[in-house]
Amino acid sequence: MPVYQAPVNDTLFILNDVLGLERYGNLPGFADATPDMIEAIVGEAARVAEEALFPLNLSGDKQGCTRNADGTVSVPDGFKQAYDQYCQGGWIGLAVPEEFGGQGLPYTLHAAVGEYMSSANMSLMMYPGLTQGAIAAIIVHGSPEQKATYLPKMVAGTWSGTMNLTEPHCGTDLGLLRTKAVPQADGSYKISGQKIFISAGEHSMTDNIVHLVLARIEGAPEGTKGISLFIVPKFMVEEDGSLGARNTVACGAIEEKMGIHGNATCVMNYDEAKGFLIGAENKGLAAMFVMMNEARLGVGLQGLSIAETAYQNAVSYARERIQGRSLSGVKNPDGKADPIIVHPDIRRSLMTIRAFNEAGRAFLLWTALKSDIAHRSPDEAERQNADDLLGLATPILKGVLTDKGFDHAVMAQQVFGGHGYIEEHGMSQYVRDARITMIYEGANGIQALDLVGRKLALNGGRAVMAMFKEIGDFCEENRGDEAMVPYTKALKKGLNDLQAATMWFMQNAMAKPDNAGAGSTDYMHLFGLVTLGYMWAKMAKAAQEKLAAGDAREDYLKNKLITAKFFMEKVMPETVLRKARIEAGAESLMEFSAEAF
Ligand SMILES: Cc1cc2nc3c(=O)[nH]c(=O)nc-3n(C[C@H](O)[C@H](O)[C@H](O)COP(=O)(O)OP(=O)(O)OC[C@H]3O[C@@H](n4cnc5c(N)ncnc54)[C@H](O)[C@@H]3O)c2cc1C
Repeated sequence: MPVYQAPVNDTLFILNDVLGLERYGNLPGFADATPDMIEAIVGEAARVAEEALFPLNLSGDKQGCTRNADGTVSVPDGFKQAYDQYCQGGWIGLAVPEEFGGQGLPYTLHAAVGEYMSSANMSLMMYPGLTQGAIAAIIVHGSPEQKATYLPKMVAGTWSGTMNLTEPHCGTDLGLLRTKAVPQADGSYKISGQKIFISAGEHSMTDNIVHLVLARIEGAPEGTKGISLFIVPKFMVEEDGSLGARNTVACGAIEEKMGIHGNATCVMNYDEAKGFLIGAENKGLAAMFVMMNEARLGVGLQGLSIAETAYQNAVSYARERIQGRSLSGVKNPDGKADPIIVHPDIRRSLMTIRAFNEAGRAFLLWTALKSDIAHRSPDEAERQNADDLLGLATPILKGVLTDKGFDHAVMAQQVFGGHGYIEEHGMSQYVRDARITMIYEGANGIQALDLVGRKLALNGGRAVMAMFKEIGDFCEENRGDEAMVPYTKALKKGLNDLQAATMWFMQNAMAKPDNAGAGSTDYMHLFGLVTLGYMWAKMAKAAQEKLAAGDAREDYLKNKLITAKFFMEKVMPETVLRKARIEAGAESLMEFSAEAF
């Protein structure tokens, strides 16, 4: 049977020792997040993930969701009870401001516990996950009445949320969308059209579903400039807050898909459904981006979370599976063979996944902290810097952690040999579930284009300069520290490659935009490598300081340093390859005519 144990010690090390959450006591909500409180919350989240969510992961995958003849959708057995337990624990509102019924704690903490929940059961966690994104959009763009009507129920989890962008002919290019909104005399709109691939679009776990829908108001301009955002509730909400008539939005079908079987991916038909404008007319895409940016961090988190579960299972199997003898002499003399964990090539896989996961966790929490600072700091300069870095990090986190999440789910599956390919050990599910994270919330190719085409040049390159400065300053500050040289040397080299590639884009992509498109995915991964390398250097520094101070976690901290060394020696050299590919430009990609393929 699959195993999962939430990596509580690692989370606490990052939050307390690497990021020093205590230092941010001036931010709203942070004063309550004392180390004791953090430990208690993270510990409780681990318990919920391991005991309530994880046992339903395999069965949820096998059973999947069903659309019934009456158009309702049934979710796997046990999901409703586990969902209720999750909501009753207040997890949806952990970081939501108290005025909307949340607990107002740091978003960083929300991200930390979100990893566990998603590792334990990604499909189930997508139901509240979509709600959290919708809550964020309503907080920023909703009217006071909309906030009062929807937020308390959504934060409590008795109502859920969805995001409706995709249509059959339009996914990435939302300017093509056709769903139409016709203004009514009472100020509402009649929404008509079809949305596809809508996660958690219909299900039986909540009393109401609040759909956030992109549509074009009659007469609005073509393209992205004419898109507005609407709230379309499944059941109308009466003045006193009670539920009224069923709205004319219905699930036409659920998709048969490769993974995340426990999450209902729905075709949603809007047939003059009553909707309410949220935010300004024709500014719907900007409003939806609040939800999408939050969701992109959530999807990056999913990539990490699956890789972590896959890793833990691969380690457990590698310790027990007996095949062959160690190259350096017998390690298991009482057995007919040694456990495969002795083989360097198996260790290559395990160390690679581990090194990415631990740095990925630090990157996720570092980014989440930037989000907290950007939204809560009283200091404008600090807010702006954090917001710049958050915007820059979002496509990298989404693209890199999900590309690697899938690669590493496959790597972990490989440790099982043929036993990973059959369903018994659950490894096939991790591979299948991880695959979607590379596609939704903007396919990873689009994340790379967002980074190169938008984020690099934004505000005269302010964000990228701030990032280079932060990493460069770290290397400089530690220049005199002998023990840090193995880490800072490799990091500085990677940073040089990244800066050279950035310069190459500036010189070669303006005149020939295909150069930017051709190098974008390599650039996103190059940036990811340097950022993860930076996380490793920060973790190495914290581990060394703690060891020098006689910290009781000696084995854990020494293992951190070994993994940091592995990352610097075995992973960071990839920056050279990425830079070379970028600098090769677009020519060999673009020379073929379309017919020649
Ligand atoms: C299981 C599942 C759940 C989903 N959940 C939701 C949901 O809840 N709500 C929702 O609205 N949508 C949802 N989606 C839709 C998802 O976000 C889209 O599938 C995704 O954004 C890609 O759109 P598309 O499938 O139309 O692909 P296309 O847009 O047709 O893209 C096809 C390929 O071309 C590439 N491409 C497109 N344009 C460019 C370009 N200009 N330059 C370079 N490459 C380009 C893309 O990267 C991609 O690889 C879900 C999808 C799935 C499968």
